[in-house]
Amino acid sequence: MAFEGLADRLQNTMQKIRGKGKVTEADVKEMMREVRLALLEADVNFKVVKNFVKKVSERSVGQEVMKSLTPGQQVIKVVKEELTELMGGEQSQIAVAKRSPTVIMMVGLQGAGKTTTTGKLANLLRKRYNRKPLLVAADIYRPAAIKQLETLGKQLNMPVFSLGDQVSPVEIAKQAIEQAKADHHDYVLIDTAGRLHVDEDLMGELKDIKELTNPDEIFLVVDAMTGQDAVNVAQSFNDQLGVTGVILTKLDGDTRGGAALSIRAVTEKPIKFAGMGEKLDALEPFHPERMASRILGMGDVLTLIEKAQTNVDSEKAKELEQKMRTMSFTFDDFLEQLGQVRSMGPLDEIIKMLPGANKIKGLNNVQVDEKQISHIEAIIQSMTSEEKQHPEIISSGRKKRIAKGSGTSIQEVNRLLKQFEEMKKMMKQMSGMQQKGKKKGMPF
Ligand code: GDP
Repeated sequence: MAFEGLADRLQNTMQKIRGKGKVTEADVKEMMREVRLALLEADVNFKVVKNFVKKVSERSVGQEVMKSLTPGQQVIKVVKEELTELMGGEQSQIAVAKRSPTVIMMVGLQGAGKTTTTGKLANLLRKRYNRKPLLVAADIYRPAAIKQLETLGKQLNMPVFSLGDQVSPVEIAKQAIEQAKADHHDYVLIDTAGRLHVDEDLMGELKDIKELTNPDEIFLVVDAMTGQDAVNVAQSFNDQLGVTGVILTKLDGDTRGGAALSIRAVTEKPIKFAGMGEKLDALEPFHPERMASRILGMGDVLTLIEKAQTNVDSEKAKELEQKMRTMSFTFDDFLEQLGQVRSMGPLDEIIKMLPGANKIKGLNNVQVDEKQISHIEAIIQSMTSEEKQHPEIISSGRKKRIAKGSGTSIQEVNRLLKQFEEMKKMMKQMSGMQQKGKKKGMPF
């Protein structure tokens, strides 16, 4: 998961201060020592760490926090606010040009995920923003790059503009924009050439494309897992070309978070999107506040809801919500939802967006095995309608029959029944929490 290592350490530190009715300067000092180490170990730029620690310390020993009735929680609130600020504060929107099409240049080093991200961004623009993008293959030096974009276009059922590898990228970009106008595309995404290192030739070519197309956005794609290297690459592209935003890829595999936490502060350019996996729907708009919330183990329900809105049938979702609230959720609903939820992405990532999920024992390291899910589906399908509605009638004789019918074992059937019960209990607690939250207002 993204930021796992950092999240663990920060959450442990926060845990110590959370319940304190009185917070002294020494407490804050001790906490900040741990926070500082955690950030440095996460490969966050040392100047950024220094600044962050200074700001949080100053605010935490201020009157506002110390005099509050819940100083422990107030300190955590300060940490969350400053983490959010570090990652850019507000969510940064994608440009919409006054004239159509909006032109986006995708730039970055080879292997960062530029071509894949171009496809993902086109997919997101269409799915979530109802746009009609044109993909442009302007990386003529790596023949495989054109092919790769064309394959992505096929998968997405989207047109890809290409003139092969004998025409200059500047000419390709020019003709692509004409084509986009003629075919009423409202976004043009230009996949430019990558190199192994930042070099003059590359920058020269990118500057030429920039001059000619006058892009509304220049998105720099960097690999989050490369930590401070990503920050250096970003700084160098920004100095030479000027970028409008950064897209961090491979955040799904980045346990440390150094790039995500430093890039904005160092380059002063916002992180606009984050790549969370290899699949074409694994790109999310980057929300600093939600990211801070995930890091501190407070979950990210808003992203979860948005994922659901993009992927899940809204009528069915409403029905489900009602069932959760009235506790009439059955195995039939479970089976149906399993299918819908699976369309939202890897389950282990989804679970981690729930607030407090990190505190449920064992859930932090959960690896969802797709085979196991197929077993669950088979078990439910082997139940009678009555059993699905009223699992409490499932006696040991019935369990035997279900296990046989689904090609699983009694232990597996037992496990599922137990999990289902636990899940219902959790739903009850969560709906209780929501009601309480509505009445009192949550601390964050
Ligand atoms: P390019 O050379 O910059 O165009 O890079 P590619 O688009 O070919 O991507 C390089 C590799 O990174 C591919 O195997 C992609 O599937 C993978 N990749 C890209 N984005 C992500 C991401 O967000 N998460 C993960 N796990 N892999 C990614």
